[in-house]
Amino acid sequence: MFNLILFGPPGSGKGTQSERLVEKYGGVHLSTGNLLRAEIAQKTPLGLEAKSFIDKGQLVPDEVVIGMVDSYFDLHKDARGFLFDGFPRTVAQAKALDRLLELKKTAISSVLALEVNEEELVKRLLNRGKTSGRSDDTDESVIRKRFSVYTDETSPVAEHYRKARKFHPIEGVGSVDAIFDRLCEAIEKQLKKESGH
Ligand code: AMP
Repeated sequence: MFNLILFGPPGSGKGTQSERLVEKYGGVHLSTGNLLRAEIAQKTPLGLEAKSFIDKGQLVPDEVVIGMVDSYFDLHKDARGFLFDGFPRTVAQAKALDRLLELKKTAISSVLALEVNEEELVKRLLNRGKTSGRSDDTDESVIRKRFSVYTDETSPVAEHYRKARKFHPIEGVGSVDAIFDRLCEAIEKQLKKESGH
């Protein structure tokens, strides 16, 4: 079982690259942002609670997100592996994920971290906001808030995986194809290592 985390700030290309990666390597794409937006679209109680945080650029509380991931695992018991996109976003989430995977007798193989500078990210997000219909991508102050939340709450997650020697930075600027190639190269290296070659 091969479990991968695609890590990086808002707008770094996690969603775009995740879709291409699961197409190539299989596994289940688990984007907590997509799951939350689906809950909002269905107007579930969880969705209504989440919306108030998302619209302000804040994180949805850990227990809500972790519960949602746990239920998603139950729905995908036979998955060969997961590609986590936008999760974990706090150290508490990373620790909870370690525990949930341990129960499934598996673990994270690798964390691939897309690195993109902030000016480029703001440009990408405002551009995406024109077509994505995402309210959190249209207001520059909400975008800036998401970056400060990323710095304060999410970037410590990198250290969690650095300590476990699973953290791999990847240059996230360039064409979608060029970045995809870099990610694939890192994955192939990991697969070789895991198969003992
Ligand atoms: P994303 O689509 O990953 O950019 O997520 C959009 C928004 O959903 C974020 O700004 C958060 O408000 C919320 N969200 C997504 N994933 C998480 C998570 N793992 N923990 C907390 N909030 C999340």
